Amino acid sequence: MKILIVFAHPEPRSLSASLRDVAIHDLEAQGHEVQLSNLYDKGWKSEIDRDDFPTLPAGDRLKVPGSSRGAFDAAALTADVGAEIGKLRWADTLILQFPLWWFSMPAILKGWVDRVYANGFAYGVGEHSDRRWGDRYGEGALAGKRAMLIVTAGGWEEHYAPRGINGPMDDLLFPINHGILHYPGYEVLPPFVVYRADRLDEAGFELVAERLRGRMRTLATTPPLPFRRQNGGDYLIPAMQLRPGLEAPGTAGFALHLTHGDPGKID
Ligand code: FAD
Repeated sequence: MKILIVFAHPEPRSLSASLRDVAIHDLEAQGHEVQLSNLYDKGWKSEIDRDDFPTLPAGDRLKVPGSSRGAFDAAALTADVGAEIGKLRWADTLILQFPLWWFSMPAILKGWVDRVYANGFAYGVGEHSDRRWGDRYGEGALAGKRAMLIVTAGGWEEHYAPRGINGPMDDLLFPINHGILHYPGYEVLPPFVVYRADRLDEAGFELVAERLRGRMRTLATTPPLPFRRQNGGDYLIPAMQLRPGLEAPGTAGFALHLTHGDPGKID
């Protein structure tokens, strides 16, 4: 397999970096090819702005989706963005790894998504009409590939349980798993989450590392989260609403968009 790890932590001696190295070591030992995009290390520019579109005439108003489309079609995206798109095309599996910061990803990683997910590549793909709303949510440029998150969190697992005060981890990660990964086509594997990460000692690290090695060895076989496909018949088009009656009684919120509400726990 060809695996791209996009890594977002500023400290090379961090727990996150140690886990990244465990993953890379195990994947390479299995004979897989791994590429790493270490965002802090490469000084990744996190904000999308006019500098992303060098061919936009000086007096023209910047409209990001349109400028992005023009630059993508003309192969005029900046070199750093073009290189990341090349890596996404190369990889059959994408791993995003980050510490949970304010219930989401660090800004530098969000900026990677904002800039690399160009219009025409990650969105704006396929026919858009009143019969079809593009190739997305299971279809698109990255369809047929797998993706997963490796996340460390300071909070307790119980606090992220279905009735936990922080909100369920599956819900917090839904915008990333569904909106960022499934949207351009990825099959999304259940996330690997380390809770109470700040309290981890060496013995705890070894347990977590072993759990992570297990996930690296089952990357190709782990069943993906059962997200519904946009164009699989479950949604009314163009309303893009789930047809009534497909969900189990009582299902609400994000769980509506899974063919069965509980993806289960695999760690
Ligand atoms: P590190 O700080 O690098 O290490 C954590 C511990 O692991 C240390 O005690 C270290 O000694 C130990 N360790 C054990 N073995 C090793 C090893 N082999 N290598 C390295 N270290 C090891 N948490 C939440 O739950 N929800 C939030 O919304 C949230 N928001 C945050 C926002 C910000 C801005 C920040 C800074 C933190 C936030 N946190 C939150 C906590 C955050 O998720 C954790 O601090 C982070 O995930 C810990 O991972 P790390 O890689 O930074 O760990």
